[in-house]
Amino acid sequence: MKINKKDILRLLENLLNDDKLKSFFEADPIKNINVFGDEVVIDLIINNPTLQARKKIDQQIQQLIHKQINSEIKVKINFEYKSLKKENLIKGNPIEGIKSIIAISSGKGGVGKSTLTANLSVSLSKMGFKVGVLDADIYGPSIPTMLDVEGSRPLSTNVDGKSKMKPIENYGVKILSIGFFTKPDQAVIWRGPMATKALNQMIFDAAWGDLDFLMIDLPPGTGDIHLSIVQSLPLTGSVVVSTPQNVALDAAKKGIAMFRQENIKVPVLGIIENMSYFTPNELPKNKYYIFGKSGAKNLSEDMNVPFLGEIPIEQSIRESGDFGSPASLQDKTSVSSAFELVTKKMLNELIKRNKNLPPTEVVRITSMSGCSAINN
Ligand code: ADP
Repeated sequence: MKINKKDILRLLENLLNDDKLKSFFEADPIKNINVFGDEVVIDLIINNPTLQARKKIDQQIQQLIHKQINSEIKVKINFEYKSLKKENLIKGNPIEGIKSIIAISSGKGGVGKSTLTANLSVSLSKMGFKVGVLDADIYGPSIPTMLDVEGSRPLSTNVDGKSKMKPIENYGVKILSIGFFTKPDQAVIWRGPMATKALNQMIFDAAWGDLDFLMIDLPPGTGDIHLSIVQSLPLTGSVVVSTPQNVALDAAKKGIAMFRQENIKVPVLGIIENMSYFTPNELPKNKYYIFGKSGAKNLSEDMNVPFLGEIPIEQSIRESGDFGSPASLQDKTSVSSAFELVTKKMLNELIKRNKNLPPTEVVRITSMSGCSAINN
């Protein structure tokens, strides 16, 4: 059998340029092709260290060579992992026992980010997952109110000889909030380093135990706390909440751009549109799009981000937030179903993300110029 190296090269170049595989490679991924009798040895450079990625690529190359050249050829592929972004990253230090860390963010305040954090968390807990919530919203920590643990003070507990902060638990969710360390009527101006220190304590000096999900309620916008979180935690993904108005969508766009920034690179699992429409009780079939229709859906298409669904504007959502009894606790109401649907969509996107991408690494921001998009 005579194997022509150029034929193999041509096939590989086409395959690796395919839309489905492109994301696994950077420039010049084919390092070497060697032919030894009826064996071809290919050395490839990929930017994804997972076994799944290797298997997928290996399988496709084998199939293609066997189909297009000769089914008798023995194909051996050696993978070398190399990412151009390596110099900006340090190794992630996942928190032992925590499987996924998801940040809930919004461009603007008041769009329902905390409401979604509380309800997604309760929905996940109702589905049987172990859930923790970290309220990092230094400007208005509302998780204690929404999950009915206002005024709580976390106690310390001993873990392997070390004193750790014990999260407060309610509705099956473990909770720590920056609000536990301030008085409700006290206007606290957290300075950057102070807030970062408090957050780091709540993340690393807390006895979270085993969690399937740690949900982080970020402050609105894009600022120091966001940087500090991506520098301390390997986030699995982020979820962006927006209302349908242009002002909120413009801000959400900046938020997405921040997570996508080269030196941050946190996968955006999707956008949730909150306060999408209003349905009066006496006209249950009518939907009034008070703030505009499908704004977040259009944004998700424009920015190629999954759309995780719509939550209507409902008096009961506001009331249940104020009374500390999240609407998703209700049994099969239209509102709890809406939260459940959004939660399931988020889970689907998380599964896809874990299949296709390597774990997120903690970011080391090397120069402030790298942060310009964040501060804009
Ligand atoms: P953020 O965290 O973005 O600042 P919140 O979650 O605190 O926003 O929500 C702001 C206010 O809007 C709260 O009073 C909350 O109860 C209310 N709210 C949020 N989402 C809805 C909704 N879908 N329907 C009615 N009220 C809502």
